[in-house]
Amino acid sequence: MRLALPGWTPGSYLIRDYVRQLEGLAVEQDGLALEPQRLEPSAWGVTCNPSGGLLTIRYRVLATELTVRTCHLDHEHGFLALAAVVLELEGERWSPHQLSCSLPQGWQAFVPLPRTNGVWQARDLDQLIDSPLEAGPHQPLPFTVLGVPHQLVCWAGQPGDERWLLEKHPALLDDLRRVCEACCRLMGVERPATGHYLVILHLVDEGYGGLEHDDSTVLIYGRDNLEKPNGYRRFLQLVAHEYLHQWNVRRLRPAELTPIDYHRPPVVPSLWFAEGVTSYLDQFLPLSAGLSEPDDLLSDLGEDLSRYRLTPGRAVQSLRESSREAWVKLYKADAYSADAQVSYYLKGAVVALCLDLHLRRCGGSLMQVLQQLWLSHGRWGRGYSEADLVQAFAASAPDLAATLPCWLQDLDDPDLDGYLSSVGLFLEAEMASTPWAGLTPRQESGGLTAARVVRGGPAERAGVMVGDELVALDRQRLKNPEDLQRALRAHQPQTLLIARRSQLRSLAFCSEPPQVERYRLKRVDDATDAQRIAQQRWLLQQPALVD
Ligand SMILES: [Zn+2]
Repeated sequence: MRLALPGWTPGSYLIRDYVRQLEGLAVEQDGLALEPQRLEPSAWGVTCNPSGGLLTIRYRVLATELTVRTCHLDHEHGFLALAAVVLELEGERWSPHQLSCSLPQGWQAFVPLPRTNGVWQARDLDQLIDSPLEAGPHQPLPFTVLGVPHQLVCWAGQPGDERWLLEKHPALLDDLRRVCEACCRLMGVERPATGHYLVILHLVDEGYGGLEHDDSTVLIYGRDNLEKPNGYRRFLQLVAHEYLHQWNVRRLRPAELTPIDYHRPPVVPSLWFAEGVTSYLDQFLPLSAGLSEPDDLLSDLGEDLSRYRLTPGRAVQSLRESSREAWVKLYKADAYSADAQVSYYLKGAVVALCLDLHLRRCGGSLMQVLQQLWLSHGRWGRGYSEADLVQAFAASAPDLAATLPCWLQDLDDPDLDGYLSSVGLFLEAEMASTPWAGLTPRQESGGLTAARVVRGGPAERAGVMVGDELVALDRQRLKNPEDLQRALRAHQPQTLLIARRSQLRSLAFCSEPPQVERYRLKRVDDATDAQRIAQQRWLLQQPALVD
């Protein structure tokens, strides 16, 4: 029999080699120890008797990593991402699996699976792996979405976690219900796709993230951030994002993830649709739930568009490549990434915006195409290809059959300004007040270091590398970022003294005039009636009006 541990968790496109945390594998049959033979780093072979007795497999898993896709166990709670725990037995992937759990006194475990006689029942290995487990002295907080029972289980590292959370946010459960109902309206469905749903929330000092599952989500969020108005809105957006994934990417799934290969990384060219479309639409959901204002949406969207415009990597990597290379680029980002790649979340959301506004010109919307794909593919479990996506868009706007593939493969941008103008909006550039050095300094205990060096910028041309200590500019000692800003002289040759591997070097440096520092999304002052009406309907995600 072959035993193998998954290498990754769906939704998080990185080979994590969970086997790193596995210890002491021992296999026994009829009281006799069998010797597992290592076949691959994450797989073993065991010679057992097919007509013999029960096979028992024992191992330990180190649970010390607190993220939404790893395991963490301490005196307050336990969280298991089951992909990191459950061995796949060859030939048994599609057989029913059962899960039971021994817990400390006073603890309860929460798993989004049906339970009979204290044992959770999964129809197959995939459903088991898709089920996170949270345990602790928790009191679940119930709420109902369109008749379907939901539960929030929170670990906040505070005495009486749930009481503490509800004292801070008395309307939380009602707000969650409203956001989830807004998701269902957006999908054009009368009920959630599942008959029960579990939200596992880990509140920590600082953190942000979520992982989607069919019948649950795991969220990590900053405790203090949740108490700020913008932080609370972003939290509702995060919930909306993961909740929308119960359709987009979980049940309405790229063909390359149907079925999922847990051991090798599948190349998925349509991750921009799974994540970009979800990231774009999640911004509308607190608004549609009556929990935020149109100006909040314009401010959030403006921040994304600004970040996108200021990412040089968009001139290097196409949207399709960004999706295909998720495994080795987005999930392995470093100090050079902004110059070499563009996130399919970010550019995917920009293209989603352009698609939405394009479709609205002919009376359609992105929401309608998503609903159509749910009806044609998602609800039947049919994986979609990139061609299926293009076809679905072209059904509403025939010119997208030629335009959309260009947006996916080209480095040129869609006409973002033109699309924004159709709803009475524009991006206003804000210039920096100091010359451009093409580097981001970071203050460390020993002084100032280069945290990022922009490709082709003044610092790179001078020979600065990430990690260099920035000692002095024109003999002025640099101790903090402000010292650097003050010492910069645009277009004038200057001498930059750096330290690299304990050696001082003198570099010829010449900064450039101030550059755009950020963009803000603004309303056009003298918008026409047509622009105003289009904007109103777009903000409320209502169908566009056409002549
Ligand atoms: Zn997502």
